[in-house]
Amino acid sequence: MNISILGSTGSIGTQSLQVVDDLKGIKDINVVAITGNSNISLLEMQARRYSPQMVVVADESKYTDIKTRLNDTDIEVLCGEEGLCAAATAKDTDMVLSSIVGFAGLVPTMKAIEAGKAIALANKETLVTAGSIFMEAIKKNDVPLIPVDSEHSAIFQSLQGGKKGELRKILLTASGGPFFGKSREDLQNIKKEQALKHPNWSMGAKITIDSATLMNKGLEVIEAKWLFGVELSDIEVVVHRESIIHSMVEFCDKSIIAQLSLPSMKHPIQYAFTYPDRLLSPDESVDFPTLGSMTFAKPDEETFRCLALAKNAGEMGGIMPTVLNAANEVAVAKFLKDEITFLEIPEIVEKAMSDYKNNLNPTLLDIIEVDREIRNKG
Ligand code: NDP
Ligand code: MG
Repeated sequence: MNISILGSTGSIGTQSLQVVDDLKGIKDINVVAITGNSNISLLEMQARRYSPQMVVVADESKYTDIKTRLNDTDIEVLCGEEGLCAAATAKDTDMVLSSIVGFAGLVPTMKAIEAGKAIALANKETLVTAGSIFMEAIKKNDVPLIPVDSEHSAIFQSLQGGKKGELRKILLTASGGPFFGKSREDLQNIKKEQALKHPNWSMGAKITIDSATLMNKGLEVIEAKWLFGVELSDIEVVVHRESIIHSMVEFCDKSIIAQLSLPSMKHPIQYAFTYPDRLLSPDESVDFPTLGSMTFAKPDEETFRCLALAKNAGEMGGIMPTVLNAANEVAVAKFLKDEITFLEIPEIVEKAMSDYKNNLNPTLLDIIEVDREIRNKG
């Protein structure tokens, strides 16, 4: 199989290259294109190790640097959104791993779908912001869409235990993040260093903050709605601190099927690469006696308002999830620069949502326009 990895220098991207290594001799995967944005030395290292046909840097100001570094190779070096789209549609590519963070992944992923590439989707923001258009394109071009987000991979795997019409509800698990059990008062003086410490997962900065605010779970509720064609009311978020059950589905006979494994993104990435097969993995097994117990709780949507806001945006539909997503990206970037407090993140998102009049049938251009407007307002 030939793959293009959009966002190869990120947390998901680097783990996907480890999976490529793990699968050597079991299922050989040829890396056709890789893309990065700021981490030029890692991009160069990856280029030398995996010898792709194409290397793309999204940030155009870094083009000369990476081009010069790779001058002694015959790798094609491109930049900008055009370059990302070239990586997403490269002739020899069978599957595109969409693992750029945020809205920047949308256009290249749409191009990959239009070019008939199978999609392994980590970038949840694309489905949140353009779910209807995205899923229509998937159907129209008849391309496989395999979730990489651990919960959605778990749901995708669990659904194989029944037929489509038999599904009753989705139980989306949440670790609760680093501030589970805290009150709004406790959250007032949170520093970004505390928010960046996730108890179970090591991830990129943006999704780690989203996990601390529970916006990540909100985005995942919308993601699940689109991926599995269910109503938001059929998705229940359950806090499960241990992150062993990655999500569950309940069928009409009240049987629940779940997918369990130790918390490692290499599991869902490998499953996306090998689906419909299951192949050997070097990962550790769950040791139940050592684990001892698993716990479950209701999420606290009053303290962690981002979850409620995302559900609202999902219910409203139209352009609202785009507004929510863009305002959240802006707010998280500001929090990471120490420009706002932790509790201002939901305030900024809520204000943006109340400032916008909904447009129930946005086109891709409307979505791009509204996203840009919100970012420009900053
Ligand atoms: P990272 O921040 O670790 O990596 C993001 C990748 O996107 C990097 O390759 C980065 O390049 C690149 N990038 C950043 N900004 C841009 C831009 N403007 N244009 C093009 N490329 C850009 O993120 P993660 O790997 O954590 O997450 C990636 C996606 O996967 C997100 O949508 C996240 O929600 C989702 N996801 C992540 C999980 C995880 O465990 N990490 C779990 C489930 C989903 P560079 O590093 O060179 O700047
Ligand atoms: Mg997840």
